[in-house]
Amino acid sequence: MLRGGCLCGGVRYEIDGPVGHALYCHCSMCRKAHGSAFRARLAVPKTSFRFTQGEDLLTRYISSGNTVRTFCRRCGSPMVNFWTVEPDNYGLAMGSLDDDPGVRPQWHLYAGSKAPWYEIADGLPQLQEDFEPMDAGSLAAIHNWRPVDESLATSGQPTMEQLGTIAGAGFTTVINLALHDDARYSLADEAGAVRELGMAYEHIPVQFAAPTEGDLLAFFAAMDAHRGEKVWVHCAANMRASVFLGLYRVLRQGWARDKAFDVMDSLWEPDEVWAGFIERILAKRPAA
Ligand SMILES: [Zn+2]
Ligand SMILES: [Zn+2]
Repeated sequence: MLRGGCLCGGVRYEIDGPVGHALYCHCSMCRKAHGSAFRARLAVPKTSFRFTQGEDLLTRYISSGNTVRTFCRRCGSPMVNFWTVEPDNYGLAMGSLDDDPGVRPQWHLYAGSKAPWYEIADGLPQLQEDFEPMDAGSLAAIHNWRPVDESLATSGQPTMEQLGTIAGAGFTTVINLALHDDARYSLADEAGAVRELGMAYEHIPVQFAAPTEGDLLAFFAAMDAHRGEKVWVHCAANMRASVFLGLYRVLRQGWARDKAFDVMDSLWEPDEVWAGFIERILAKRPAA
């Protein structure tokens, strides 16, 4: 049994079972998140890991399309990261361990992005980037892809080929909040393509310059109707979708507002129209 936790002691966890590999990540996001030369990260199977206290202190931050970082909101200590591309493991901030996990870091990742004032001098292999560079056939290549959890993902407009990737990843419903006839991004026949791939298709055309409460309610109805399924929500650039998701979380799922809009916050700052829309909806509708 391994134990660990954050600096203030509010968040505590236990690892009961084998752990995976460890590595050092020098990417700019890890350096910023840790305020340090690199992140030491241990792969931990989700089945071995459990929080014993303070899980409610964790704040999530989506730093890129495939990484959600968590940290203690009281003391700032980084805790676990997760990715839907590697759904079985957490990436644990290794410095949070109280005990010796036995394994030692074996690689330097993103050595090409390392801090200029830090010299890697231990002889371990240095990869310029990650193990597997993102390939065009992966979900991560879809425009503004933001995974939400195991059964929900959001993005901008997928291509025809990417609709196939989405179906192949097990999604059964596509909700499109963009228009069907915008020459800049619309597909020739998205509805037909999605249905041909065996997925359900819900189209709720939201005018970017004039979102309405009716659009939002149609989205809520579609989300409710497909609850329990693997749902992909997209628009053109994941702007409409990320706002609607935030409102769905607050009004339908009881999320606190400061956490509900993390996908939106990672993508854009709403313009006047959308900021006003959010305020109007939240002022009018009691959270339920
Ligand atoms: Zn803490
Ligand atoms: Zn990194």
